[in-house]
Amino acid sequence: MAAFVTRFAPSPTGHLHRGHAYSALSAWTAAQQARGRFILRIEDIDRIRCRPEYEAGVFEDLAWLGLSWEAPVRRQSEHMEDYGRALRELAERGLVYRCFRTRKEIAQATLSAPHGRMDAFRGGPLAAAEEARRLEAGEPFAWRLSLEAAERALGGFERLAFVEEGEGPGGERGEVRVRPELGGDVVLARKDVGVAYHLAVVVDDALQAITHVIRGQDLFEATHVQRLLQALLGLPAPVYRHHRLLMGPDGKRFAKRDRSETLRELRARGMTAARIREELGFV
Ligand code: GLU
Repeated sequence: MAAFVTRFAPSPTGHLHRGHAYSALSAWTAAQQARGRFILRIEDIDRIRCRPEYEAGVFEDLAWLGLSWEAPVRRQSEHMEDYGRALRELAERGLVYRCFRTRKEIAQATLSAPHGRMDAFRGGPLAAAEEARRLEAGEPFAWRLSLEAAERALGGFERLAFVEEGEGPGGERGEVRVRPELGGDVVLARKDVGVAYHLAVVVDDALQAITHVIRGQDLFEATHVQRLLQALLGLPAPVYRHHRLLMGPDGKRFAKRDRSETLRELRARGMTAARIREELGFV
């Protein structure tokens, strides 16, 4: 087994921009330096937002940047069974519960909490009879991780940590203690999507034997819940290297939601891959 395996795991919901190039080049360069392996994974579980033309764009843009990756490329939408199995395991052990609340109800519940945050919801299962009634009525629900059950299963979160070799947004480095309460009872599966990002990503990082997760600081906080899921599922914990986020000239970060210039637009305007690499600090 290679001692160093890293990955770039884009979701094909838009064309790649400089921020993606920075992430991909960071992971690829680290693999080269360590004489390790570089894996490209397509995270396309959200069938509504992901499109084939964006996936084709990922391959085109990365090849243009001069990267190479292992084949075949794992496409998450083709492996839903793997994530379903992990979810069933959590369900059988009582670590997840069905949540029937609507987005609006969640927002209201978290607003009234002392440090209300939309994504830090904590609830619990309904009484069996009420749950049966709602299931019978065909009401949609999401599977949420129960932090309470997780804490019981692990005998507390005190010893849970991950290793940060890069830097978190608050300068976090070294051994970082996991704080699951940051994310609350996160959603691990929904009726429409089947599985949520956190669960799919930890299953795949383990299946692909990823030793180093190299990605932007926007995902630093996600590492807390991901490390918790690894512990619950008995999966190995990779080392994390979060990198700074690239800012555009307006001081805002490059994101596909904005109209930041995509790599394909830059290419069409005559920008060369060598210049992009240089601009991003990879010479
Ligand atoms: N698919 C995620 C994204 O596009 C990244 C997942 C990860 O690197 O853990 O933001």
